[in-house]
Amino acid sequence: NKQILLRDYVTGFPKESDMIHTTGTIRLKVEEGSKAIVVKNLYLSCDPYMRNRMKKPDAPPYADSMTPQSPVLGFGVAKVLDSGHPDFKEGDLVWGTTGWEEFSLIQAPESLFKITHTDVPLSYYTGLLGMPGLTAYAGLYEVCSPKKGETVFVSAASGAVGQLVGQFAKLLGCYVVGSAGSKQKVDLLKNKFGFDDAFNYKDEHDLNAALKRHFPEGIDVYFENVGGSMLDAVLLNMRYHGRIAVCGMISQYNLDKPEGIHNLFRLITKRIRMEGFVVLDYLHLYPKFLQLALQYIKEGKIVYLEDTIEGLENAPSALIRLFTGQNVGKQVAVVANE
Ligand code: NDP
Repeated sequence: NKQILLRDYVTGFPKESDMIHTTGTIRLKVEEGSKAIVVKNLYLSCDPYMRNRMKKPDAPPYADSMTPQSPVLGFGVAKVLDSGHPDFKEGDLVWGTTGWEEFSLIQAPESLFKITHTDVPLSYYTGLLGMPGLTAYAGLYEVCSPKKGETVFVSAASGAVGQLVGQFAKLLGCYVVGSAGSKQKVDLLKNKFGFDDAFNYKDEHDLNAALKRHFPEGIDVYFENVGGSMLDAVLLNMRYHGRIAVCGMISQYNLDKPEGIHNLFRLITKRIRMEGFVVLDYLHLYPKFLQLALQYIKEGKIVYLEDTIEGLENAPSALIRLFTGQNVGKQVAVVANE
C-alpha cells in the first residue's frame, strides 16, 4: 500500500519534504463483525484547508490536526472493495475523507457520501459536485443571498470554489468581477466562466484603486477567499448593507502571524455583515445542491475546470501548487482509474 505520510507538523510555506513517500501493508478484507470499509482511492482532492490541518493543534482548532507519521488526510473519491457496514457494498463509489494512500481502511464510513450519479466525470466529486461545490453554493446562497442586479466580487476566482461562485452569481443575474493571479486565469474568468470582468491582483499596486475602477458604485457581495490586503481594500469599497462571506484566507495560511486588517470600522459605517462559515455546517444542503448542480451541468449552464496531476507520488507537489498559484482550476491528483 503506497502511502504519503505527514512528516511532522508544518510551519511556514509547505514543502514536498514535509510529506514522506512510503509503502505499508493493509488487509483488503474487513475484520469479522467490524462496521468498517476498505476502499481503493481513485482521486485525491488537494485543498487549501489541508495546510491548516498540518499545523500543531491550536485553540480553537479550524479542523482536527493530522497526525505526524500517519497518512495525509483529505477528501477523495474511492471505490469500496470490502464492507462490514450495512449501507455500503463492494463496488460502491463514495466521496469523503480518506487517506493519501492506494487503499484505506475507513472505520466510520457513515461520514462518506455514496456516489449515485456516474454520468459525469468521477473526479467532479472532489470539486464541482463535492466539498468545494457545496462551499460555493452555501457561501453564496446561504450567507450572502445575492439579489438580481447586485454587484459581486470574488477573489481566488479561478479556483475550485471561486469559478463556481462567479458562475452561480451570474445565473442569479448579478454583475460579477473576479481577481486572480495570472493573465491566463483572468482570460479564463472572462472567456470561459462568463464573469463580467476580471483583473490580475499581482499587476495592481493599489488594490483599492483597482476595485474602484471595477465597481464605481461599490460592492454588494464579497466572496472572500484570500484575506490580507485584499480584504482591507474590499472593505473600503463595500456598499451599504453589503455582505461578506468569509470562506477562506489563503494569503495568511503560511504566515506565523496573520496580517492586521485596518478598515474594519467600515463594517459599522456601511452596515456590512461579514460572516465566516465552514462548509461542514451545511452538509444537510448537499442533496439539494447536487440536484441543482447536475441540472446546471446537463443544461450546459456551468462549466468546471480541473487541473489534474497523475500519480499518488505527485500529490504533495500538487498540494503545494495551491500556495504558489500554479493550479489552474480545481487541483486533483489521480491515484488510480476505476
Ligand atoms: P483554489 O483552487 O482557489 O487554489 C488556491 C488559489 O489561491 C491559488 O490558485 C492562488 O490563485 C490563490 N492564492 C494562493 N496564495 C495566495 C496569496 N498569498 N494571495 C492571494 N491568493 C493566493 O482553492 P479553493 O478554491 O479550494 O479554496 C479557495 C478558498 O476557499 C481557500 O481560502 C480555502 O481555504 C477556502 N475554503 C473554505 C471552505 C470553508 O468551509 N470555509 C471550504 C473550502 C475552501 P491566484 O493565482 O489567483 O493567486
